[in-house]
Amino acid sequence: MTTRVWDYLPEYEAEKDDILDAVQKVFGSGQLVLGESVSGFEAEFAAYHALPYATGVDNGTNALKLALEALGIGPGDEVVTVSNTAAPTVVAIVGAGATPVFVDVREDDFLIDTDQVEAAITPRTKALLPVHLYGQSVDMEPLRRVAEKHGLKILEDCAQSHGARHHGRLTGTMGDAAAFSFYPTKVLGAYGDGGAVVTGDEETDRAMKQLRYYGMDKVYYVMRSPGHNSRLDEVQAEILRRKLTRLDDYVAGRNAVARRYEEQLADVAGPGGLLLPRTNPGNTHVYYVYVVRHPRRDAVIEALKAYDIHLNISYPWPVHTMSGYEHLGWTKGSLPVTEKLAGEIFSLPMYPSLSEGRQEKVVGALREVLARV
Ligand SMILES: *Cc1c(COP(=O)(O)O)cnc(C)c1O
Repeated sequence: MTTRVWDYLPEYEAEKDDILDAVQKVFGSGQLVLGESVSGFEAEFAAYHALPYATGVDNGTNALKLALEALGIGPGDEVVTVSNTAAPTVVAIVGAGATPVFVDVREDDFLIDTDQVEAAITPRTKALLPVHLYGQSVDMEPLRRVAEKHGLKILEDCAQSHGARHHGRLTGTMGDAAAFSFYPTKVLGAYGDGGAVVTGDEETDRAMKQLRYYGMDKVYYVMRSPGHNSRLDEVQAEILRRKLTRLDDYVAGRNAVARRYEEQLADVAGPGGLLLPRTNPGNTHVYYVYVVRHPRRDAVIEALKAYDIHLNISYPWPVHTMSGYEHLGWTKGSLPVTEKLAGEIFSLPMYPSLSEGRQEKVVGALREVLARV
């Protein structure tokens, strides 16, 4: 049986009645776009974060892009972020007309090196865009100090960190606004595309609701600004409402899978070989992906294919080295830690419905491979 890093079918099997009931509820509701399910999900997702506002949008990329626009960031402005991220983080900044400025990451946790952020700030810097990569919160206190000192906005990229906490605080509640993706693989995933922006600021929320709906204000067909069509689909919103009630269970399930990897791989992990991910003190990791390192990563991945195990790399090429972003002027070698990690990281299967039996097979195969690479 083929094993991949992610599979939603076991979860669908377990939740089928609820998911199909959500679909039927919307189809029979008489309101297929921006109805009760979207507004209900927005209220519930905001409440989960103990924030007053949430706006559902069509995907995580547009959540980031519209949030930047809602925060008043656009052409001529610089946004400080990382290259060690999913490309859409950068797609969104460029899409908003702003310029991404990359800071290297730390080798031990893959997250933005907060010590290097201040040096990246110029008179054009308008925002910091930390990415809570792989499901672990960035160290937010130093970022907040820098933002305050230089008058910058903070937009959190929470596409991988639903339910993750930093000293007890949920990611998404530590900046001016936060963008989420509900792409199916995410910790809270829809059955298709979806996204949302949460904020504590009324003005930002008003701008978000306008931007996602052509730029339209409360008055029908009166456009207050140029906008987009970036509405969250009603069916996806109803599915997300159901799944939001189970988010803490998904997080617990992912942590159980992570603990089993730790127990079963502890004796074969160590410097110069397999390195397991670390959780910083004060953080609750949600393991969107379980990223490990090995100096001979490509050989490990290749050897596992013989066991019908097909792993992924998140992400094989740092954004600043891609031909599509050459015009930004970042040369190879400019972000040494990011570039080094990209050659060593790979992901082990991780999803809450991963069975213990299947996980044991992965561990067994990996142990055999590690003994000979
Ligand atoms: C998935 C992801 C996005 C984009 O979300 P989509 O819904 O696929 O558009 C943005 N940032 C990060 C870090 C992601 O992992």
